[in-house]
Amino acid sequence: MPHSISPETDNQNPTVEETMADAPTRADESQDNDDDITMAEANALPVPVKEEDKKDVKLDELFADVDSDDEFPSSRPAENKFSSSPEAPTSPIDRTVSVKASDPDIMRMFYQRFFPWRYLFQWLNHSPTPTNDFGHREFAFTLSRGDGDIYSRYNSFPSADLLRKDVLRQLPTRFEIGPVYTTNPRDRKTLRNLNAFKPLSKELCFDIDLTDYDDIRTCCDKANICNRCWQFITMAIKVVDVALRDDFGFKHIMWVYSGRRGAHAWVCDKKARTMDDQKRRAIAGYLDVIRGGAQSGKKVNVWRPLHPHLSRSLNILAPHFQEDVLEAQDPWASSERAEHLLSLLPDKALNDSLRKKWDSSPGRASTSKWADIDSLARSGSGSKNLDTKALLDAKQDIVLEYTYPRLDIEVSKKLNHLLKSPFVVHPGTGRVCVPIDTRKLEDFDPLGVPTVQGLLEEIDAWKADDGEDGSEDKAKNLQDWEKTSLRPYVEYFRSFVLALMKDERDPKIKREREESEAMEF
Ligand code: ZN
Repeated sequence: MPHSISPETDNQNPTVEETMADAPTRADESQDNDDDITMAEANALPVPVKEEDKKDVKLDELFADVDSDDEFPSSRPAENKFSSSPEAPTSPIDRTVSVKASDPDIMRMFYQRFFPWRYLFQWLNHSPTPTNDFGHREFAFTLSRGDGDIYSRYNSFPSADLLRKDVLRQLPTRFEIGPVYTTNPRDRKTLRNLNAFKPLSKELCFDIDLTDYDDIRTCCDKANICNRCWQFITMAIKVVDVALRDDFGFKHIMWVYSGRRGAHAWVCDKKARTMDDQKRRAIAGYLDVIRGGAQSGKKVNVWRPLHPHLSRSLNILAPHFQEDVLEAQDPWASSERAEHLLSLLPDKALNDSLRKKWDSSPGRASTSKWADIDSLARSGSGSKNLDTKALLDAKQDIVLEYTYPRLDIEVSKKLNHLLKSPFVVHPGTGRVCVPIDTRKLEDFDPLGVPTVQGLLEEIDAWKADDGEDGSEDKAKNLQDWEKTSLRPYVEYFRSFVLALMKDERDPKIKREREESEAMEF
């Protein structure tokens, strides 16, 4: 094996010291180590399977109880299974049989034909010609090897082509992107001075996951999502994006669908990439407002008068609170959930009146319950000296609790945290982790994102059309992704990368590069 597959033992924040201490482990020795793949989104992976269960467990079975996405093609009619009619797919594998997104043949075709290698390279390299920004960057592969998954860290590649070749050789079900190091991560064990191997830079990242909204979303839970609860992600993106731009001055912010139930932000500005952990923690802390797990009481405790970031956030979130929370989620329909609302209000007498009113009209909608708070307060149902300021503050806190972004800030705090690459395939849903065009944020439909299986069908269909209308010449000039619904996402990525490279370039060599890029694009 040309490089070691080294499962790491620290499942939270692997540090250089800890990970360098381990000896290279052969792939077949590592399977009983659940930590192999716990770096990020471990619960989205098919791996924490006990040794005795492993042999016969199939990926689609593992996800059967958590993944109800319609387009997962295992639900396809059985009669198509062994079709040999002329309409059958023309690609080398019959995908109606091989339904798993992580099937090696599916993965190979995806990486070969659809993955935007060149733009990924330019994105991480900040220049069309290879630099250490790319060459010293860590890639971590999740490798599916029959009886378990292996998490292979510290891979690095001098060029996009070598990365592509190794991905095609190893066929990871997904890969993650880590920091740029002081030296080539592959060589870290040959260094005499271990302290010489340090992470230097990485994008500032944010992670938002709908499972953190399970105590306030009523439409779905766990790994399931729908367009109603996706609105929580839409709200989160709006609030975080504007704060990063207006309060911190960042320009190059890319949001990426995580393939199932959340989104990641990659802040790519140079001044973001070179921030140390202390600065990252400061920004994460600035944006982190919702505290406490699902069971705890009051989750919002903020100073008054409100920080301008919170006033602005409330202005953004108020319409969403009305439409996407009160109307769409009806979060206080049950008396148990209504009790939680009352627990957040400050006036005991008012609460007694509200409780009485709601008990006498079962099923009263959350919009009405919310309006009742003010109308009963005005009609004097509260205590004699009702503190209207405290009531207003409590209502603002409630709006924040039900709308403000719930961030997994561990992802943001550390320079050396790894995060799943854009454009990889989520093994459970088959969906491509596409960038989200924030200019059309409201239009983004997570359930309409292309799946790898769907893309392969689109390519077949496109070829069929081609045969009929004789546009073969046109076809020769198109890349495969251009023939499919992946196109707008790759084009968005390309324009994002171009804008980033423009800002990075040294003015002295600007002209030279512009000329070479003019030829490339
Ligand atoms: Zn939902």
